[in-house]
Amino acid sequence: MNIRPQHDSTYDVAIVGAGIMGSSTALFLARGGMRCALIDRRGVCSEASGINAGTLTMQMTRAALIPYALKAWEMWNQPEQWLGMDPGVTICNGLSLAFTEPEIEVLEQRARARREFGADIEVISSTRARKIEPALSLYPLAAAYCPTDGHVTANRTGLAFRAALDQEDVELFDNSLVRSVVQDATGFTILGDESIIHAKRIVLAGGVWLQEMLRWLGLNISIKTLINQLAITERMGPAMRTVIGIANGLLSLKQFSNGTVLIGGGWQGQGDRETRITELIPENLVGNAQLACHAIPALLQTRLVRAWSGFEAETADAMPIIGEIPGIRDAYVIGSAHSGYTSAPYMAKLLAQRILGNSPEMPLFNPSRLLTDT
Ligand SMILES: Cc1cc2nc3c(=O)[nH]c(=O)nc-3n(C[C@H](O)[C@H](O)[C@H](O)COP(=O)(O)OP(=O)(O)OC[C@H]3O[C@@H](n4cnc5c(N)ncnc54)[C@H](O)[C@@H]3O)c2cc1C
Repeated sequence: MNIRPQHDSTYDVAIVGAGIMGSSTALFLARGGMRCALIDRRGVCSEASGINAGTLTMQMTRAALIPYALKAWEMWNQPEQWLGMDPGVTICNGLSLAFTEPEIEVLEQRARARREFGADIEVISSTRARKIEPALSLYPLAAAYCPTDGHVTANRTGLAFRAALDQEDVELFDNSLVRSVVQDATGFTILGDESIIHAKRIVLAGGVWLQEMLRWLGLNISIKTLINQLAITERMGPAMRTVIGIANGLLSLKQFSNGTVLIGGGWQGQGDRETRITELIPENLVGNAQLACHAIPALLQTRLVRAWSGFEAETADAMPIIGEIPGIRDAYVIGSAHSGYTSAPYMAKLLAQRILGNSPEMPLFNPSRLLTDT
């Protein structure tokens, strides 16, 4: 085994997990003057954060998280300002479609709840929706319209973060599986297959693997695993100019500048996080694609070229865990946010404010509420 010992250097903070949550936290901590080690068993944004649908949506974000998502949306609007590079951000209108009267009621309720938290969403007629998105089929009866929408090319996220982290001298330990963490009077020793790292503080940012990471410190918080499927079409001429969803949440559609259309909506695959192996469920792929063609008939003219799936984390109350790890000084956790890609940069900024000794601009999400005995 080829261990890289780091005994000679103690970092101010070690962040375990280099998804968008961990990478953003490292970035803001480094900008705040901390010497950071960022450790991942794979690489920067190589799990959910590099393979997700990249929708920057308010429509499907939980109402209580809208203030966080709006702040993050503003950040995504100007990625050069905080990330240094544009990972392919497109800001555009978003439409969530209703095909039945009960679905119109769902959209009305959802829009009301989100408006209370500041999202600009209104339910409009299908005629108006078709003016905003001429590619729409004749099936929708109405749509919830939100001008604060858009998408990012998720597989460019890692590239952008790597450059930004490098610029801030964050020391990256990729291909470094962490096995355990031990606390002593001087901080934390992070024991991995490839490295032994010592740091005064630790941030656990393990996405769907947070449950296992928290166990290193003797805590039990159950993390549910969702296995979301996505599919992408071959390139086609310009067909869509909005992000499309539907009332029951089972569709998300957007066309990238290279002409490909990404089809998602949380249709589930199968697999398990322990082996990290996922498999597609073909019937779910077909159902997802049929729904896409029902909404945007131009998609009938194109073919799917690739499909994949990835792990998304969810807590028992479907709210994030962000803040101090209860009972363990200088240990923090961040993750499990619904629409986590959208909100990550802002949520990480808040956690960094706390770690740097300042009051976060908005409340964090205390992990204590989720602790269980086993
Ligand atoms: C298919 C799919 C589509 C999605 N679509 C959207 C969307 O359109 N919009 C949106 O806002 N959100 C979306 N999401 C959710 C979003 O991708 C996640 O909320 C977000 O990326 C989570 O980031 P994270 O950093 O917490 O986790 P991850 O990106 O999973 O990062 C966790 C990291 O921890 C590392 N790690 C784990 N265990 C260890 C260990 N023992 N040692 C070292 N490293 C370890 C992993 O290698 C990984 O890199 C989607 C998710 C999926 C799967």
